[in-house]
Amino acid sequence: MAKVGINIATGSIQQEEIIVGIDLGTTNSLVAFINSNQQPYALNDMDGYTIVPSIVHFTASGEVIVGNEAKQHLIDDPQHTVYSVKRLLGKSFSDLGNIQQYFGYKILDEDSEGLIKIKIHDKYYTAIEISALILKELKSRAEHYLKTPVKRAVITVPAYFNDAQRQATRDAGRLAGLDVLRIVNEPTAASLAYGLGLDKNEHQNIAVYDLGGGTFDISILSLQQGIFEVLSTNGDTFLGGDDFDKAIVNYWMEANQKNRDEILADKSLSQWLRLKAEELKKQLSYVEEVSLEENGWNLCISAEKFEELILPIVKRSMDCCEKALADSGLQLSEISNIVMVGGSTRTPLVKKMVDEFFKGALLFDALNPDEVVALGAAIEADILAGNRSDILLLDVTPLSLGIETLGGLMDTLIPRNSKIPTRAARQYTTSIDGQSNIKINVYQGERDLVAENRKLATFDLKGVPAMPAGLPKVEVGFQLNADGILTVTAKELRSGVSQVIEVKPQYGLTDSEVEKMLMDSLVNAQKDVDTRMIIEAQTEAQQLIYLTERFLEKNSGMLSAEEISGTKQKIEELRASLATNDKNSVLKYNEALNEYTAPFAERLMDIAIAQAMKGKQI
Ligand code: ADP
Ligand code: MG
Repeated sequence: MAKVGINIATGSIQQEEIIVGIDLGTTNSLVAFINSNQQPYALNDMDGYTIVPSIVHFTASGEVIVGNEAKQHLIDDPQHTVYSVKRLLGKSFSDLGNIQQYFGYKILDEDSEGLIKIKIHDKYYTAIEISALILKELKSRAEHYLKTPVKRAVITVPAYFNDAQRQATRDAGRLAGLDVLRIVNEPTAASLAYGLGLDKNEHQNIAVYDLGGGTFDISILSLQQGIFEVLSTNGDTFLGGDDFDKAIVNYWMEANQKNRDEILADKSLSQWLRLKAEELKKQLSYVEEVSLEENGWNLCISAEKFEELILPIVKRSMDCCEKALADSGLQLSEISNIVMVGGSTRTPLVKKMVDEFFKGALLFDALNPDEVVALGAAIEADILAGNRSDILLLDVTPLSLGIETLGGLMDTLIPRNSKIPTRAARQYTTSIDGQSNIKINVYQGERDLVAENRKLATFDLKGVPAMPAGLPKVEVGFQLNADGILTVTAKELRSGVSQVIEVKPQYGLTDSEVEKMLMDSLVNAQKDVDTRMIIEAQTEAQQLIYLTERFLEKNSGMLSAEEISGTKQKIEELRASLATNDKNSVLKYNEALNEYTAPFAERLMDIAIAQAMKGKQI
C-alpha cells in the first residue's frame, strides 16, 4: 500500500503542481485551490464571479458553451441547453422515476437499465460526458488563472451518492483530463473549510445544513481523529431557493391582479419574472423591503411578507433535520456545531430557524456559503498532496479493483485511493440462456478495457441451475483488509451457489509500474471512454436484436405481415450499423428499432422477457 502523501502517481516531477478542489454542483460549480498564503481561495472569472452555472449549451454548429453564457439559452433554446445534469449522473432511466418532465431537453427512455442518454442535435451524450464538459471548463479556468497545467483534483459529491454516482463522477473527471485523487462528501468538505476535523484530538458531532438552488441536504457527521463518519443523511431533492423564487412570483401575480395561467403560458415572461424574483430575493437577505417598477409590473415585497411566504418551505427542511437527527441515534445536545452551506442559507429566516432547531450548537456561517464546499475540497487536496505534515495519512489502495463485464469492459468495485480496509459488492447477471458456469475475472487498473489492466484471478462459479439469460443474480463482493489482501466472493442468490478466492493485488508490482498504469489511464482517457461507449452501445444493440427476434418468433401469429417485415428491416439496419464502430449511428438505429416496435410490443410484450436482462452482464 502506498501512503497518500508522496503520491506514486506523480513522483518528483509534480512536486510544485497544484491540486484543485472542485464543487460540481446541481445549480452551480466552482474550483478552488490553496494560494501562496496557504489559504483556500475560490477562483473567479474576469467579472469577479466564482460561481459557474452548471449549464451546458450546444450550438447548431457543434460549439459547446458552459456557464453564465449558456444560462441565457435556457430561454431561447431549451432543447439544446442541459441543466441539472447532476440529477442524472450514474442513473439509469428506471432510476429516474417520474421526474422526467422536469427536464427541458430530451432524455432517451427506451433503455431502462443502462446509463441515461441525452439526445442533442442527433448526438447522444451520457451525464458523464456533460459533467466532463463542466469540469473541463473549470479546469481551463484554473489553468488560465494559475498559468500552469492542472492535472489533479478532488471532487465533491453529496453524502448520499451511491457507488455508481461516485464512479460516474470519477469518470467525468478522467474524461476532462483530471486525475481524481479522491471523491469527498460535500458536508465533509464544508466542515474542513471551517477547520473542523483538522485537529486529531477533537471528537464531536456536527450537522451540515445545505440549502442550494433546487436541493436540500442535511447530514449528521461524527468526527474522530480526523476521520469523518456520516451518521445519517436526509433531505429533499426538490427543495431550495427556486421554491422561494416561485413563491415571490406567485405573490406578484396576485398583487398585480394578473391571470396566473396566462402568465405561466408565456415562457419568456414567466422566466423574466423568476429571474427578477431571484434578484430581489437576494437583496432581501440584507434589506427590509425591495420594490421595482418595470414592464408595467409593480415588483415590491417586504422581508416580512417574504418570510411569511417561505415559512412552510423552510419548515419542510426542518422536518428533514428532525428525521436525520433521529436516524443518527444522537440527542440534540450531542451536536456541537452546525455548518451552513448553499446560497439559500443567506436568507435570515433560514438561519434563524436552523439556529433555533439546533439550540446550543455553534452556528458556522462566516464563510461564503456557496464557496465553502469548494474551499474544503481544496484543503482536502492539500492534505492529499502531503503538504500538511500534522495530518495523519491513511493507507489507501493505489489501483482500482474490479471485474470483467460483457464486451471485455472493466467494472470497478473498489476505486483507487480508497482508504483500507474497505469492502464493496455489486450484482450482475448472465447474457446467455442456461449458463451453469459463470466465469468471474478479477482485474486491477484504471483502463476501461480489462485487456489493458492487470489480471489478478479468475474463477468459475459452477453448478448454477439453468435459467434464462438475465435471470441469475450473481452478487460479487470485494473485501480488502488492512494488509492489502483481497477476498472475492461470488454468490448466485437464487440458488445459493457460491465461491470464494483470495488474492494479494500488490504482489509483484513495483511503484514505477503503478505510476505507469496511472499515467496511461490519463493519456488514454478520451480513447478509453469512446471505446467503452461504443462497446456499451453495441452490447445494448445486440441484446435488443436478440430480444426482438425472440419476440417475433413467439408472437408472429399476432402481428401483421407488414409489422413483421418492417421490424426485420429495422433489425438489419441496426445490425449493419454495428459494423461501423460509430456510437451515434448504433444508438440512432437502436432508437429507430425501439420506436418502430414500441406500439405493438407494448400490447404483446411478454412480461418474462421484459423482466429478463436486468443489470450488468458477466
Ligand atoms: P447548488 O448547491 O444547488 O449548486 P448554490 O449553493 O449555489 O446551489 O445555491 C444557489 C441558490 O442560492 C439560488 O437559489 C440562489 O438564488 C440562492 N442565493 C444566492 N445568494 C443569495 C442571497 N444573498 N440570499 C438568498 N438566496 C441566495
Ligand atoms: Mg451545493
